[in-house]
Amino acid sequence: MLIVHKYGGTSVGSLERIESVASRVAKVKKEGNDLVVVVSAMSGETNKLIGFANHFSENPSKREMDMLLSSGERVTAALLAIALQESGVDAIAMTGRQAGIKTDSSHTYARIASIDPKAMQREIDAGRVVIVAGFQGINEDGAVTTLGRGGSDLSAVAIAASLKADACEIYSDVDGIYTTDPRIEPKAKKMDFISYDEMLELASLGAKVLQNRSVELAKKLKVKMIAKSSFSDAEGTVIGEESEDMEAVLVSGIALDKNQARVTIREVIDRPGIAAEIFTKLADEQINVDMIIQNASTDGKTNLGFTIPQSESSRAKAVIEAFDHDIGAMDFDDSVCKVSVVGVGMKSHSGVAATAFRAMAKESINIEMISTSEIKISMIIAEKYAGLAVRTLHNVYELDI
Ligand code: ASP
Ligand code: MG
Repeated sequence: MLIVHKYGGTSVGSLERIESVASRVAKVKKEGNDLVVVVSAMSGETNKLIGFANHFSENPSKREMDMLLSSGERVTAALLAIALQESGVDAIAMTGRQAGIKTDSSHTYARIASIDPKAMQREIDAGRVVIVAGFQGINEDGAVTTLGRGGSDLSAVAIAASLKADACEIYSDVDGIYTTDPRIEPKAKKMDFISYDEMLELASLGAKVLQNRSVELAKKLKVKMIAKSSFSDAEGTVIGEESEDMEAVLVSGIALDKNQARVTIREVIDRPGIAAEIFTKLADEQINVDMIIQNASTDGKTNLGFTIPQSESSRAKAVIEAFDHDIGAMDFDDSVCKVSVVGVGMKSHSGVAATAFRAMAKESINIEMISTSEIKISMIIAEKYAGLAVRTLHNVYELDI
């Protein structure tokens, strides 16, 4: 088998941790597998480098930031190769460029354009473990680029696809994806399997485990991902293509997003094009609008409500203020959260939403906004009910048994 391993910051956070990753890799190699290992910078390292740059400039050149930040991953790659060589395993460390990774030119947030796996393949064929510095590539001009925070996951998935690897195992300090956040509901269970689409909807549960962009790419290129812990030998969670028997399971997990704000714009002049103008402006400012509700209008005026990430509130305020001649008052409510019920089984079962609403009603939790997709029901509720809502839903869909 050809397997790609990816080790995140905490998994390589100290020399002892790198040593322990080396023994894990050596074991898998000795079992007769071919192996490419993608590594992150040691934990805290990327932030430390950003701090160094900010000592000189609040707004450092993005090109030089890529020069700087890409070094963190190179340190880990070289150290892991040295540790492996010392234990008698033939290994070679490569930068993104040496591994054949080409990107576009958006410094600090580059997209992978192509991977030429020849150099990696040559080393694999020579029996070596290939260690690749994650999170980086080069652009057309040969300048170093980085792929955005958490980008080593993306490197790993793209490399796995280019080499047609059997699996891409993502190691962190969490042993898989749970039915909900175990800190909120201790009865949460680790899933054996979850589909790409469910994983993307449950992003808030996987956020510390898998970078979202990497799951999107894995879905597109059909790369089987496995989320595992480098601190234990537990099985992990497979993220893969949906299969038919999965529809037997109604709901897979309950996600919670506390980083939500609800915006209400009152007395919006009700004329064709006003919603288009407001939401185009918000989109131009890269503000992610999620749920939208518009009430029936009275006297030529209507109320418009929507949700955005809390962190984008002040930018959204500025955008909406520019419409002051078309709107009455606006208010922002940060004390809301979004709970989502996710499962591919919803596609073929009815009444899943009604069950959620009944459960909320029984706990006297008011649902302020609702949105649904084929595999998800999301509700905006007061943030103080977040924990209660998650536990109630986890229980009502029997995720704890
Ligand atoms: N070191 C980079 C970061 O902290 C990339 C990664 O860890 O995947 O964002
Ligand atoms: Mg990371």
